[in-house]
Amino acid sequence: MTNPHASIALHPSSCTSCMLCVRECPDWCIDIEAHTEPDPDAPQYSNARRPALKNVLDSFTIDFSHCMWCGICIEVCPFDALYWSSDDIVAGTNRQQMIYGIDELAASLPSARRADGTAAPLIHEPPSGRRKK
Ligand code: SF4
Ligand code: SF4
Repeated sequence: MTNPHASIALHPSSCTSCMLCVRECPDWCIDIEAHTEPDPDAPQYSNARRPALKNVLDSFTIDFSHCMWCGICIEVCPFDALYWSSDDIVAGTNRQQMIYGIDELAASLPSARRADGTAAPLIHEPPSGRRKK
């Protein structure tokens, strides 16, 4: 029997690097690196004092050797970027084996579900743009 809460998946293009999950994780086991770039899709205002910038996600890591599966990161994400996945994480005695980076988190998207049971968008699909109520 699969465990619907076996691990956590990430839709990288939905993540805005807002850092809310990092701040709210009670175990401090989420690590994000990001940088800013000019946003070509932002409205260009003639009176703007500086160019509009957007966050670009460089790395997203969850240390499952510290995670307690509370789901707070999934609940607080305002952009529907984190999901429960039924893919088991790789058990191991080496702590490094329990640290999952952006590629591994995204790889489990096909088995990822929202808390209400609906499927997460696949990796090639656009961000949901869904805002939590
Ligand atoms: S499930 Fe809880 S402990 Fe694990 S990464 Fe998310 S907020 Fe942190
Ligand atoms: S709360 Fe969501 S959008 Fe914000 S950094 Fe975490 S995963 Fe990305």
